[in-house]
Amino acid sequence: MSTILVTGGAGFLGSHLCDRLLERGDDVICVDNFFSGRKENIRHLIGNPKFEVIRHDIVHPLYVEADQIYNCACPASPVAYQYNPIKTIKTSTVGMVNILGLAKRCGARILHTSTSEVYGDPDVHPQTEDYWGNVNPLGPRSCYDEGKRVAESLCVNYHLAHDVEVRIVRIFNTYGPRMDPNDGRVVSNFIMQALRGEDLTVYGDGLQTRSFCFVSDLIEGFIRLMNQDTAIGPVNIGNPTENTMIELAEAVLEVTGSSSKIVRAPLPEDDPKRRCPDITLAKSLLDWTPQVDLKSGLKETVDYYQRTQFDTQS
Ligand code: NAD
Ligand code: UDP
Ligand code: UDP
Repeated sequence: MSTILVTGGAGFLGSHLCDRLLERGDDVICVDNFFSGRKENIRHLIGNPKFEVIRHDIVHPLYVEADQIYNCACPASPVAYQYNPIKTIKTSTVGMVNILGLAKRCGARILHTSTSEVYGDPDVHPQTEDYWGNVNPLGPRSCYDEGKRVAESLCVNYHLAHDVEVRIVRIFNTYGPRMDPNDGRVVSNFIMQALRGEDLTVYGDGLQTRSFCFVSDLIEGFIRLMNQDTAIGPVNIGNPTENTMIELAEAVLEVTGSSSKIVRAPLPEDDPKRRCPDITLAKSLLDWTPQVDLKSGLKETVDYYQRTQFDTQS
């Protein structure tokens, strides 16, 4: 049993992680500024004596005691991270320094949630961890992509200079219950549109690809990476099954039984054309492979949106 700090613990991934750690018997400190996270995600944990919530922005110093830290604080949806790009950069740079400073002071191991976005619009396929990426440093996604690249560099340099035990995970598109229905990501958009009987908005020609990992698989990968002593990473964690956005829209229509139509909308600037993880390293280092296929994961996600109070009527 340990005390574990989860920054961004009220967000989509952070809240599932808090659940898993508490089930295991750990004490969990959840730190969140509630920018893109929601109290609903952690309401069921309030009152648990092993769970504590602190409303705090990691751009400011934080003094708590922890044995391990999962740094999940950063908006992940393009709509959310482009809302205030400078704030997004500060979270991944100034915020990252603060959390690494805390890890250094406490002697805590820290797992940092990096992203497949460090590969930008990749010209190597599938993406391996040794690929340096193809990021537009000035475009609308750069606040997120470049921030995350600096955060990785900070992790590596705190490890080299101060022996901080870091672990870096590069997360590929992940979906599941508790994704904010309004955050603009493709899975939540398509499901909400289908449930409301609205048209599904496929951006561009819909032939761009993503590889969708179900949240429970991802959290298992986090915990395995954190608790092995061989490598600091980065390690790709994602589902290697690649789908076009049209295929995803068709899968959502099938799972929801909706008769919504698929329509085209403009492709956002710098939208990566293909994305798929090479997970050879995760398999060998962590003995990890994803267990949940797209249809099963979509079904659980649809059930969640139907169960919760979100207005699915148009
Ligand atoms: P999310 O937006 O649901 O969660 C992020 C949480 O961090 C939110 O609760 C938000 O309020 C909080 N937060 C943001 N800025 C903060 C700050 N300055 N101080 C304190 N709290 C702050 O997103 P998510 O999908 O749960 O993503 C979690 C992490 O995983 C992020 O680092 C994200 O970049 C990374 N990631 C996620 C995906 C994915 O597909 N979900 C893919 C790649 C990387
Ligand atoms: N910090 C923090 N909590 C801690 C320890 C440090 O928030 O428990 C912050 C503090 O703002 C500091 C930063 O992390 O400036 C980096 O810490 P580090 O020890 O690397 O550098 P220094 O204190 O020398 O600036
Ligand atoms: N997308 C789409 N319709 C939507 C939302 C997104 O076709 O309503 C596309 C988007 O252009 C991108 C893909 O889906 O090609 C994944 O977008 P998301 O914002 O979920 O994640 P990211 O681009 O960061 O991978």
